[in-house]
Amino acid sequence: MSKPTGPIPLQFADQSALTIAGRTAEQWVAEAGDTPLFVYDVGAVADRLAALRAALPDIVDIHYAVKANPWEPLLAQVAPMVGGLDVASAGEMVKALAVKPAEHISFAGPGKRDDELEAAIWAGVTLNAESAGEIERALEIGRRLEIAPQIAIRVNPDFELRGSGMKMGGRASPFGIDVASVPDLVRRIGDAGAQWRGFHIFAGSQSLDTAAIIETQAATVDLAARLAGDAGQVPPLVNLGGGFGIPYFHGDTPVDIAAIGAAIAEKLADLPENLAGSRFAIELGRWIVGEAGVYLTRIVDMKTSGEERFWVVDGGLNHQLAASGNFGTVVRRNYPIAVADKLNASADVETSVVGPLCTPLDRLGDKVMLPQAQVGDLIAIFCAGAYGASASPSGFLGHPAAREILAPTKNS
Ligand SMILES: *Cc1c(COP(=O)(O)O)cnc(C)c1O
Repeated sequence: MSKPTGPIPLQFADQSALTIAGRTAEQWVAEAGDTPLFVYDVGAVADRLAALRAALPDIVDIHYAVKANPWEPLLAQVAPMVGGLDVASAGEMVKALAVKPAEHISFAGPGKRDDELEAAIWAGVTLNAESAGEIERALEIGRRLEIAPQIAIRVNPDFELRGSGMKMGGRASPFGIDVASVPDLVRRIGDAGAQWRGFHIFAGSQSLDTAAIIETQAATVDLAARLAGDAGQVPPLVNLGGGFGIPYFHGDTPVDIAAIGAAIAEKLADLPENLAGSRFAIELGRWIVGEAGVYLTRIVDMKTSGEERFWVVDGGLNHQLAASGNFGTVVRRNYPIAVADKLNASADVETSVVGPLCTPLDRLGDKVMLPQAQVGDLIAIFCAGAYGASASPSGFLGHPAAREILAPTKNS
């Protein structure tokens, strides 16, 4: 029995042979020099961001979560299209500072070392503090440097963003500071002479449930208002998190950006006094870049074993771990996959597409239906723009790293 594959992103779907920004897959491989290759379609990113910007009220900024794809040439393209960059390590911070002023960069993540805190304070980057201890260390470093640290509080919300509705009820977490401790810490930051920058409240990731996202955003605004009231201070910025998913698997459908934008506009139209003067942000990673990336890998060998066909390609989970089902998924399902020059040909061959690694985990397509292909053909795996190259164990088995290339917009 064959297994279904995810939907090919709309901007690529309606073609007989795959083209990205007007060029064929083979042309991109020729330009980059070889396979395996990630191609990132900058025009697709720009189109999505323009649509989202148009859907959101002006009071809400869009931030890019750099960990989704930190590749510098892509980051340099995305940075001017968004209001802020959210980073999760000093390494990402250095990349962000190269393309965005420090006042538009925030640094979240547990376990920030003293040298990371110092680098952020020195640069003027906002720390999204993950614990009381981290706040005290930042204050101490600020005193030593004679620089007032910029500190926002990452709140561990007492609710969760769920794909299927929200689960209420607090939960212990390594991320953020429990709600009960937040008001005192807001006062502590101000009393110690640091700049309090607001709240960062991130309730979850990869949700395709528009209603759940809307509910979570409303609950997040309410929580921010309550905490601001308890602290007696208006937060300059409330980062509402994000969590917009993209369709990876069969049956998945995209989130409704217009509906989300309308709901947040309505929610923020009449702000409570505790948030009067606050600005807001949503931070998105995969939604911005995920569908813009295509991973191209060449068929090296074809074989049958028992009753099953195997097409062996030159790239695998060492570059695109998520497509193998080994990055945060419970049940392995197929990403959208195609023979690059036969995108819409009739798919009458059942085959598994496996990578070159000596592990049964290295499977990019499990019993998928594809058009007949031959050794040397290119296989395209879609939704490769986020959590691809940088989120895969590229050192495992010692194959070369994947190449990456930008498909620029027509004007850039
Ligand atoms: C990972 C992360 C994101 C990005 O998540 P996506 O699912 O890629 O949108 C945003 N904010 C925080 C705090 C994160 O840790």
